[in-house]
Amino acid sequence: MKCPKCGKSINPTQHADLIFDGQVWCSDCSNYDPRLIEKRDFTDLWEWSRKICQAFNQAPVLLEHDRLYLPDPRKYWRDGIFLLAEADHQKRSIMLYPPGMRLTTLCHELAHIFTGQDHTAEWASINAKLTAWVKSLL
Ligand SMILES: [Zn+2]
Ligand SMILES: [Zn+2]
Repeated sequence: MKCPKCGKSINPTQHADLIFDGQVWCSDCSNYDPRLIEKRDFTDLWEWSRKICQAFNQAPVLLEHDRLYLPDPRKYWRDGIFLLAEADHQKRSIMLYPPGMRLTTLCHELAHIFTGQDHTAEWASINAKLTAWVKSLL
């Protein structure tokens, strides 16, 4: 994939360095609307999940959050990555961890479930579509 503005090659597996908004941009060329990355409570995200599934003709996804959260950030480090959330394609469920209680994380995980794919180009473009749709309703 290439950034639509500067043409730089972008790799969807390096998603933390990319901006998913309509298209997939490198972080030099775009920024998230702050409302997409602010922390939200679970009921708010649950409601967005329901709306997104409905709008994109998808069966509802089971959204969960980590009720056993202890304020120990080490709990969310795995293999050198800070976990924001995890999606289970088979069960159509998403577990949101406290640092991932935001709309960008929700769209990221929903795109995994909708495509059944890991961090592929198709996943990246669905993620960008979902995020832009949410932004248009904020
Ligand atoms: Zn760029
Ligand atoms: Zn992912």
